[in-house]
Amino acid sequence: MSTAPDSADRLEVTGYRLTAPRRAVLDAIAHTNRPFTIEELSDRLPNIGRATVFRTIKLLQELEIVCRVPLEDGGVRYERSRSGRHHHHLICSECGSVTEFNDPSLDASIEENATLAGFELDGHSAELYGRCASCRGGGAL
Ligand SMILES: [Zn+2]
Ligand SMILES: [Zn+2]
Ligand SMILES: [Zn+2]
Repeated sequence: MSTAPDSADRLEVTGYRLTAPRRAVLDAIAHTNRPFTIEELSDRLPNIGRATVFRTIKLLQELEIVCRVPLEDGGVRYERSRSGRHHHHLICSECGSVTEFNDPSLDASIEENATLAGFELDGHSAELYGRCASCRGGGAL
């Protein structure tokens, strides 16, 4: 389940040096199971400047090791990507859990809409907001 052990490899394979601050950020992320804010992560890494934490998260985001989760209330959290590739999010407004899902036909449809509008697409994200199966209670499938 964990993507942490190969995250460091991926960083180096893509030509980035695994500096001490980057390793510390990766370690901290490996031990989070909930979506986090830069502030929360930064508080757990008192020896690393917030700007460094922020830049590292940006880099990990480009490598799809971490993904950005825009919340319904306008806030932003980050999570360790479980699949390590492009995906969409189901975000529970009660417990805050984030579930990944993948849908190539949705991606194709989004790209087609951009093309039809003459729009040059750089990327997309999709967030679905609501309540997860466990928050909905026993009856939900
Ligand atoms: Zn994600
Ligand atoms: Zn929930
Ligand atoms: Zn997509």
